[in-house]
Amino acid sequence: MPKVVSRSAVSSSTDAQPTASSAAALRVYYCICGEFILVIDTNLSALPRRQSDKSTIIRCRDSGSAAARVFKLNATPVDPVLIERNGGHERQYRFLCPRCTLPIGYQSTPPPSKSGPFLYILPGALTQMQGQLPQGALDDDDDES
Ligand SMILES: [Zn+2]
Repeated sequence: MPKVVSRSAVSSSTDAQPTASSAAALRVYYCICGEFILVIDTNLSALPRRQSDKSTIIRCRDSGSAAARVFKLNATPVDPVLIERNGGHERQYRFLCPRCTLPIGYQSTPPPSKSGPFLYILPGALTQMQGQLPQGALDDDDDES
């Protein structure tokens, strides 16, 4: 009896395999509900944060000496909201977790993601450990008022 090997399964897994070097550098982030949200070429904690709301800043476009990050966002875009900021207003096009609809992040331009210069990830929204609370997820209740 010949051994049955599914050729399509073998070839597709080989094709989908990233090179060893790029796979090693990629980080995967999950919503606290466990849904896969983001894969990116760096550690989010190494990226700069906004002063206004402590969101992590992901650069989407090359600018001078700063190179854009390589990433893919798995989130649902929703209608923009207006945020009051230092007497002015800021329009945020938000992205929600496709499973639990928790807000993940936002950008200043209409979807799709990467249409603007930056994408912002809300503090405590994502974790690298599937099924675990991110560090600081419950910390910012105080400054909501
Ligand atoms: Zn979720």
